[in-house]
Amino acid sequence: MKQTKLVRITDIKRDAALLEEAGQIIRDGGLVVFPTETVYGIGANGLDADACRSIYTAKGRPSDNPLILTVPGRDAVRQAAASVSPTAELLMKTFWPGPLTIIFPRQPQVPDAATGGLDTVALRCPDHAVCRAFLKAAGVPVAGPSANLSTRPSPTTAEEVMHDMDGRVDMVIDGGPCKIGVESTIVECNDHGGVTILRPGGVTAEMLHTVVPYVRMDTHLVTGQGTPKAPGMKYRHYAPAAPMIVAVGSVEAVMAELKQLYEEARRDGKTVGFLVSQEVGACLPDAHRYVWGHHGDAEALARQLYTGLLSFDTDKVDLILAEGIDSEGLGAAVMNRMKKSAGGNVRFV
Ligand code: AMP
Ligand code: MG
Repeated sequence: MKQTKLVRITDIKRDAALLEEAGQIIRDGGLVVFPTETVYGIGANGLDADACRSIYTAKGRPSDNPLILTVPGRDAVRQAAASVSPTAELLMKTFWPGPLTIIFPRQPQVPDAATGGLDTVALRCPDHAVCRAFLKAAGVPVAGPSANLSTRPSPTTAEEVMHDMDGRVDMVIDGGPCKIGVESTIVECNDHGGVTILRPGGVTAEMLHTVVPYVRMDTHLVTGQGTPKAPGMKYRHYAPAAPMIVAVGSVEAVMAELKQLYEEARRDGKTVGFLVSQEVGACLPDAHRYVWGHHGDAEALARQLYTGLLSFDTDKVDLILAEGIDSEGLGAAVMNRMKKSAGGNVRFV
């Protein structure tokens, strides 16, 4: 077991010594959890095979699921990418720093342990000042998957990180709650100036379309058939301990559906947790509830989703009844995660 040092960093200049210490831990092959605008990441030297392998051990993650390497800016991309296409260049200029991960051909120095043996590498530059100062201090691309035990919801606060990672990592940098709350969009560029979305996230299809002529979804995301191009998408993920049912529709329709499901569950002697908007929650029976914001507010739901799900693990409910959102804009990323959390149990009412 490791001795985990928890540090809070709010001021990059004042806390320069702590950032330098974190960078040294990475260069020495250790693990540092760091904040980003999406979710907290568990970081290791992305060019060090042993360090990358220790991420898999700390998370209990399957080894064919490749890691995303984080970099402090465009200048650092060549440390891991063998070439940069004009489309990738355009995407970086437009959306970095930000929640967009781009797949590149990999440099030979990037180990198989980071890419799951693929000949490509996933890179991202987070929009978070503390994170980028930490990446600069590290001086190497930092492999950074979400800092949760594999299959559990991703952490969006340092407290949630400590719940899963205390004793498994050398340092946790607390940079406050994450602004976005769901993981980055992952895209692959094709040879004709278009992109394929392998995982929806904070940079939406609509946003990509403003600079790229063709935007398509990986077939697996749309149909659930075939092999996903991002290997990680095939795994159970983002899952709370209790089973979950999601209803999507108008306030009245969702309320009626959740009430009925609640009554059925109560007849079976089950305890219920609601994950709902203020509007839907207003008329639901008295049960454990996590209210995430106003009906239809995708940003609020994205920010609160994982904390809400984790609250039901703490309170040990038997069934989670949740309100979803239209799959437009950021809603596509939110519903992708909710569908996985619910094992596909989504009802349009
Ligand atoms: P996480 O960092 O835990 O949010 O997961 C990283 C995601 O990126 C997983 O779904 C991986 O399968 C995906 N990924 C990482 N590298 C690649 C790559 N070279 N090609 C396709 N997907 C990748
Ligand atoms: Mg993850």
